[in-house]
Amino acid sequence: MTAFARTERLGSWGRTASFEGAVARPRFAGDLPAVFSDPERPTTILAHGLGRSYGDSCLNPGGGMVSMRGLDRILQLDPAARVLRAQAGMTIEEALSILTPKGLFLPVLPGTRYVTLGGAVANDVHGKNHTTHGSFGRWVRRIGLVRSDRGAMQVSPDDPDGLFAATVGGMGLTGLIAWVEIALTQVQSTDLIVEDVAFDTFDEYYELMVNHGDSDYRVAWIDCTRPGYGIFTHARHAPIGETQPHPRTKAFAVPFDMPGFLLNGATLALFNRAYRGLKRRRHGPRRAHYSTFHFPLDGVRDWNRLYGERGFRQYQCVIPDAGGREAIWEMLRVISKAGDGSFLAVVKQFGRLPQPGLMSFPREGVTLALDFRNRGQRTLDLLHTLDEIVLSAGGRLYPAKDGRVSANHFQYMYPNWRELEARRDPAIQSSFWKRVTRA
Ligand SMILES: Cc1cc2nc3c(=O)[nH]c(=O)nc-3n(C[C@H](O)[C@H](O)[C@H](O)COP(=O)(O)OP(=O)(O)OC[C@H]3O[C@@H](n4cnc5c(N)ncnc54)[C@H](O)[C@@H]3O)c2cc1C
Repeated sequence: MTAFARTERLGSWGRTASFEGAVARPRFAGDLPAVFSDPERPTTILAHGLGRSYGDSCLNPGGGMVSMRGLDRILQLDPAARVLRAQAGMTIEEALSILTPKGLFLPVLPGTRYVTLGGAVANDVHGKNHTTHGSFGRWVRRIGLVRSDRGAMQVSPDDPDGLFAATVGGMGLTGLIAWVEIALTQVQSTDLIVEDVAFDTFDEYYELMVNHGDSDYRVAWIDCTRPGYGIFTHARHAPIGETQPHPRTKAFAVPFDMPGFLLNGATLALFNRAYRGLKRRRHGPRRAHYSTFHFPLDGVRDWNRLYGERGFRQYQCVIPDAGGREAIWEMLRVISKAGDGSFLAVVKQFGRLPQPGLMSFPREGVTLALDFRNRGQRTLDLLHTLDEIVLSAGGRLYPAKDGRVSANHFQYMYPNWRELEARRDPAIQSSFWKRVTRA
């Protein structure tokens, strides 16, 4: 019996790309080598986590997919040594539920807990503490990988043939990640002490970032309809308190695709002013559970439907500090002029810690993430203009969020791409990789 008997539709978070194809759903680590030797295996396959990547890096139209969610077990947890080894289909939500009652925590968290450990490695995800903790891969001690040409193997940071560095941030192209061993941090409480501070110019934002450099986490939301205005939020782990995992309450679900006309310049401006007003009213530090601070969007299930049935595109870039301010300003000006602002415009700072992956997205500088309702060519043209600004400032885009950057631009932004291609498993391919490695 073939593992690829089922045909399913798989998509990504932005809802601009999806495809129907053969999907294998292995349940045990021992099933993974058989996925490659399966006589019915499509010529190429790609691992899929929870599809929280926005564009086409987690899709393989014309080939097969391997959903890794069935591999979700803990293999080893050593609280004294602060090490977790777990199968790659385990989610950050599941890992935190087990770790937090023991006072243990994942050192790097993306903005949603619905991400698998394999997906976190494959995109070398970052959090709101990059300046001090770097990206997820920096905490990975060992990876269990299964390849079509080398079978099951282990790779670690001192690996001489560079397969570990290629796998971290390698977008699933170097093999199926079977398990991940991660170093953990210790916390005294699962609460954070959080403070919001309003700013009215981008210079103020930079001052706040510097002045609160000793906070554990720093992030800012900016109002795209009024460049310069925003809210800076910083947080630190509470020194004492309970160690409780996030509540398992059922999130409110968006029941249908929001009609596109509801998302226009006027509603955008209203939303942004209301959001800022709400945050501004809070004075001084407050205590908040980590889940509300780290995963604010997880409270609304399927929030991606709010952008209507054509979906949306997320645009995330990083720009080196020299020239970063001017480039971000120019991007906001272009966006505002196009009348296509973003509901969620998030700014974070990346530090100078060495990147663990050949293709890790973070580099020292400022990172800006924006959401745009998909309006077809008009949106693509706007994003292309933003690409030009990012490129001329020496920046680059985050592949996990992309579904349209040109091969030329990508290869310029990631000159190491050939080194990943040299280590790619020949039986693995993705829509994104095919597009950006075209000659
Ligand atoms: C609301 C929201 C907030 C987010 N915030 C952040 C953020 O703050 N920082 C950040 O860095 N990212 C962020 N992201 C992006 C997200 O963290 C990444 O896209 C992540 O990789 C998604 O993981 P996934 O398990 O859904 O994997 P998928 O999206 O399904 O796949 C992602 C990649 O991982 C590969 N992959 C998955 N599992 C395996 C495996 N076992 N073996 C080999 N390859 C595998 C896939 O082939 C693909 O290339 C956010 C996404 C959302 C929706």
